[in-house]
Amino acid sequence: MDHFAYHNGVLHAEDVAIPAIAEAVGTPVYIYSAATLVRHARVFREGLAQLPSTHIAFAVKANPNLAVLKLLAREGYGADVVSAGEMDRALAAGIPPEGVVFSGVGKTADELVRALKAGIGQFNLESEEEGVELAALAAALGVTAQAALRVNPDVDAGTHAKISTGKAENKFGVAYHHAPGIYARLSALPGLHMRGLAVHIGSQLSQLQPLEDAFTKMGDLMRAIRANGQTITHMDLGGGIGVPYREEEVFPTPADYGAMVARVTADWGVTLMFEPGRVIAGNSGVLVTKVVRVKEGVTNPFVVVDAAMNDLARPALYGAWHDFLAVVPNGHAFTANIVGPICESSDTFAMGRDIDKVQAGDLAVFRTAGAYGATMANTYNSRALVPEVMVHGEAWDVVADRIDPATILAAERVPAWLK
Ligand SMILES: *Cc1c(COP(=O)(O)O)cnc(C)c1O
Repeated sequence: MDHFAYHNGVLHAEDVAIPAIAEAVGTPVYIYSAATLVRHARVFREGLAQLPSTHIAFAVKANPNLAVLKLLAREGYGADVVSAGEMDRALAAGIPPEGVVFSGVGKTADELVRALKAGIGQFNLESEEEGVELAALAAALGVTAQAALRVNPDVDAGTHAKISTGKAENKFGVAYHHAPGIYARLSALPGLHMRGLAVHIGSQLSQLQPLEDAFTKMGDLMRAIRANGQTITHMDLGGGIGVPYREEEVFPTPADYGAMVARVTADWGVTLMFEPGRVIAGNSGVLVTKVVRVKEGVTNPFVVVDAAMNDLARPALYGAWHDFLAVVPNGHAFTANIVGPICESSDTFAMGRDIDKVQAGDLAVFRTAGAYGATMANTYNSRALVPEVMVHGEAWDVVADRIDPATILAAERVPAWLK
């Protein structure tokens, strides 16, 4: 459920008419609904209510906006970060360091030191080499790093290849059968306290079965490691629950997910950690765009909008679908291709789509753009960096400025010899 709905024929974000924001801020612009974010955060937490001990760390990469993180911090969420930059954001948003989990396959020594000094709660190690390095850095600082070993369970998540992370050939985690030996060796190092295992098999999962298979394998591994005499008090089950990008799609709910986790982990006796991203933020945002013009095509007309693949990359990256709705629909429909102005054919949002019959100057939204949207934006074709707005009831605020091409140009230099 979200808080984007038509009132008197005009699409609103909570109690704010979207044209009011578009007029004041310009387009394209992302709009987040605070009430939707909070609702999703609470529904996810309620889905896990039957579990004895949990920690939920929002996957910052899904939406790192400071206001979004602040809202989730108020909901008691921790943060799953994959860079020192994301860690700084989480801490700036008031998330306590002990609630921060540091994931990622390429943490540099500099990043590890910064995270040790910040006192973050858990390092999810992606290799033995990383664990050895972290242990030495921690020992040199006179601290003990809390760590979990990320394991690749070799399970097919059944999602898009580019967002699958749990197959043996993927770069993430250590091989399942190497895990007990690595865990034992890392447990013996000073500076490191190995406290658990972590798994994350992919994103936008539409079925619970691959997750259940992965968690079952992780339970077996946990028992084997304990039988070797090592300690496990924490199990990090990652993120990955998908969201419907089309009206008609049905996805497992957080309650379904929680029930499955409760069944699989009933006798584990650990604190369970979760790293949801998309399921919290996806439906909480839309990308508002204006139709530049409608151009005749050979089969279908092209609706050329002022948003492009630099603002919302998912369709170009993964062939992703985002519902497209007129902000003030006129009751007519047509079949059209929706494209942005960038000089690449991949700058295509949809082909042969049945949509509201928009015309030049009309406003429209791409729905479900709150996760992996603004955070992937760039300035390709010397376009502005897209701004972000958060709505809260009748109020709204710009929570990230538009960065103009002139500002980016001002950061560039011509070497003296060229002047
Ligand atoms: C991306 C990622 C997540 C979040 O994935 P979602 O599909 O957005 O829930 C969680 N954990 C790790 C390690 C990730 O890389």
